[in-house]
Amino acid sequence: MTSECLFCSIIKKKTQTKIVYEDKDIMVFSDINPKNRVHLLIAPREHIKSFLDLSSKNILILTKMTKVIQSIIRGKKLEGGYQVIFNGGKYQHIPHLHWHLLGD
Ligand SMILES: [Zn+2]
Repeated sequence: MTSECLFCSIIKKKTQTKIVYEDKDIMVFSDINPKNRVHLLIAPREHIKSFLDLSSKNILILTKMTKVIQSIIRGKKLEGGYQVIFNGGKYQHIPHLHWHLLGD
């Protein structure tokens, strides 16, 4: 048994962080090292390792994640400047799929 991934621990509320949004499939929380005024992480509750592990069975989750991100962009009035980023390989520090949403 390997040690649990950080995001699974956050999702199970074993690790404290600032949760911005959650539902039965998705969680949104603040990046502990923000690179902009708004820097949120959007992750599925399911442990999917990376962008390359997504398949057609994850389409519903992806659609939901997209809608959640759109509503946060609108809610935080970031329409004038935002980035939605998937990191992979050496750029992905936590092996649990997540999108970064950055905006100012
Ligand atoms: Zn995980």
